Amino acid sequence: MAEQVPIREGAFVQGPEGAELVGNRCQGCGQIFFPKVQTCLTCFGDNLEETRLNRKGELYSYAIGHMPSMHFQPPYAIGYINLPEGIRVFAPLKIRDDKPFEAGMEMEVVIDHLWTEGDRDILGYMFRPV
Ligand SMILES: [Zn+2]
Repeated sequence: MAEQVPIREGAFVQGPEGAELVGNRCQGCGQIFFPKVQTCLTCFGDNLEETRLNRKGELYSYAIGHMPSMHFQPPYAIGYINLPEGIRVFAPLKIRDDKPFEAGMEMEVVIDHLWTEGDRDILGYMFRPV
């Protein structure tokens, strides 16, 4: 069986309800970041604590790729999700034929296979229509 490797160490975990993204929160001003940052980009504070983000958000915008890419066969989708924490996350999207993308629709994060590198199975986070 192929070794499963996350595309970015510490960016997501499997929580009780499913996949959860892991960001961090500035203890000085409260700003939340994903991916995690070393220094707050709002107040330049360096006291940040890890926080798990809401699993669900709203689709802000999306694009469908129709040209083959290095890792994805067309059609594939990418987009921005607005999370309740007030941040916007860029991610691949899962296409569901029964639920076409529409700005504002509810989306949830999942962990899924992205591509294979040799004998390694690269895992990443994606959002899909709820
Ligand atoms: Zn700050």
